[in-house]
Amino acid sequence: LTDTSRKPAWLRAKLPSGPGYSAVRKLVDAHDLHTVCQSAQCPNLGECWSRGTATVMILGNICTRSCNFCAIQTGRPTEYDIAEPARVADAVAKMNLKHCVVTSVARDELADGGAGIWAATIRAIRHRNPQTAIEVLVPDFKGRMDQVDTVLDAAPDIYNHNVETVERLQKPVRVQARYDRSRSTLRHAKSRGFTTKTGIMLGLGERKEEIEKTMQDLVDDQIDILTIGQYLQPTPRHWKIDRWVHPDEFAHWKDYGLKLGFGVVESGAMVRSSYHADEQSEKYTGT
Ligand code: SF4
Ligand code: SF4
Repeated sequence: LTDTSRKPAWLRAKLPSGPGYSAVRKLVDAHDLHTVCQSAQCPNLGECWSRGTATVMILGNICTRSCNFCAIQTGRPTEYDIAEPARVADAVAKMNLKHCVVTSVARDELADGGAGIWAATIRAIRHRNPQTAIEVLVPDFKGRMDQVDTVLDAAPDIYNHNVETVERLQKPVRVQARYDRSRSTLRHAKSRGFTTKTGIMLGLGERKEEIEKTMQDLVDDQIDILTIGQYLQPTPRHWKIDRWVHPDEFAHWKDYGLKLGFGVVESGAMVRSSYHADEQSEKYTGT
């Protein structure tokens, strides 16, 4: 049995430091933004913010869903701020990012699932930062392709939606989501010619053959970029960690995925969708 009470050495995060960190912190506060870095208690915050990058989370910081792995607060959202897209665009300009990642909570209570604010945010970033690549890490929009289309019509550079885990664990871990529905939104984006990306976590209780099957499914969906990281339990109330995945195993999955046919696979304990996302996309586009 693995002792999951103590983090292994390869999971020790860097502490926040330096002028980059304080600049990002000030910018986020001054623009009244939420970041998934803070809300999801991301272990890379110290490193990413010190590099001058953060992932903005739009549409508030209360989610209508209650995924069992996620630290973001669940409840009835109140924020719907049509001035938010301009503030996000301004923050991206001030961070001087050549690649930005934006994400959101799920807003299942809104008639458009939040797709309108999503599209306005992409357009505002583009207008203000024409050289910046825009990666969107979106919810599943309950499989509503008209809402997915609203986002795609705003022309993001990368359409990212995480399936998070293998098919068997979807129900317990992503309570309101469905494996096939998530996959269908990614296939839809691909059918319209977009670069697609998804991610899974290991350490939730998945088996080796299930990881292999998931990767094959995602290659069949023509996903371009795959991220694989270690699940970390945010609080004792959340889904229990099954195991610490050794760096050698992450290296194996990277190799395995590249052989299967993904364009880019980032696999490592600390890998998250938006971790060094600029480098992931450079590897894909070769720029
Ligand atoms: Fe933020 Fe992503 Fe970095 Fe985590 S990996 S700190 S979410 S930018
Ligand atoms: Fe967290 Fe996203 Fe699930 Fe909401 S939908 S609980 S933000 S993982």
